Amino acid sequence: MFEKEPHAHDTIRKIEGGKLETSVDLDKQLCFLQKMVEDLEKREVLLKDEEIKTLISHIESNEESFLVMRILINRLMEETNSMHDWVENGLYFDLVNDDLGKEKIFGGHKVNWNSEDRIKSRGFSKGYFDVDDGEIYIEGQAPEYGDIVRSLAQKGRLPQKLRILGHELIHVLQHSEELKKIKRPPSIELDEVQANRFVNNPPDRKTPDELIRRVGRGSRERLVRSIELIDKLNAFGFDTEEVSEMVTKHSTWDEENKTYIELEDIIKRKQNELGLSDDNLEKLVEIDRLERRAERYRVIAIAQEELLRWKDKEVADDS
Ligand SMILES: [Zn+2]
Repeated sequence: MFEKEPHAHDTIRKIEGGKLETSVDLDKQLCFLQKMVEDLEKREVLLKDEEIKTLISHIESNEESFLVMRILINRLMEETNSMHDWVENGLYFDLVNDDLGKEKIFGGHKVNWNSEDRIKSRGFSKGYFDVDDGEIYIEGQAPEYGDIVRSLAQKGRLPQKLRILGHELIHVLQHSEELKKIKRPPSIELDEVQANRFVNNPPDRKTPDELIRRVGRGSRERLVRSIELIDKLNAFGFDTEEVSEMVTKHSTWDEENKTYIELEDIIKRKQNELGLSDDNLEKLVEIDRLERRAERYRVIAIAQEELLRWKDKEVADDS
């Protein structure tokens, strides 16, 4: 139905494969995506929110929400890149194996749901990763499978509770045992921007101001620079593990140049390797944002198709 919609990171993969190089190509790609996202925003949805809610209550009362969610997640794995990071952080496996909300996740890091008291007492709002005991604390309980389907069908992304978990899992990566051996003071700004950009994956039009408000700590100057650099690293298609390693290893702030100089070097090297001018890199960052945005509509369409398929099957079974 939406075959022409690109996947996240399509363009960078084409550049890497030597299939796109000139700024003419990038301009064309940018225009194509802008037009596509505009059209997608105006598109009629298959199902209205109310219909989605009703269908999901039926699915829940038939005790089929896990089944529907698993079919959906597996389709998203096959047909989009939207689940990629969730495979890496292990959550995908928890979902398809019906392990969500059970004790252990991600290399043995325990996830403690319903931890509001502890979270508040440590001065956090919805969740945090405790570097000392290696456990994750999250407010409220794990979402029901029906909530996951609903969120994917309405918003094209996982529900907030799982995105908070995703945010904390990024902090787990940033503080891995191996990386802890590198005796270098972490940058709160880089760490939080990376985790926040992930949670908002696919990123909306989050202005630096909105993101800075969301992070709520750190220096403004460093946060603004962190956003710029993290967005570039993400646009290059580095995965979450690679970016976590980079922000942990290369967190040194250069006061004279007002930037994280080692990250700048990594970006420059990658730029040279791909033959991208500064101007073209800016275009690539915007292309990355649009590709992810388009993909979010694709997720909505697939989730709604699955709900309709379930409905048709129900009708067929009843008659
Ligand atoms: Zn955080």
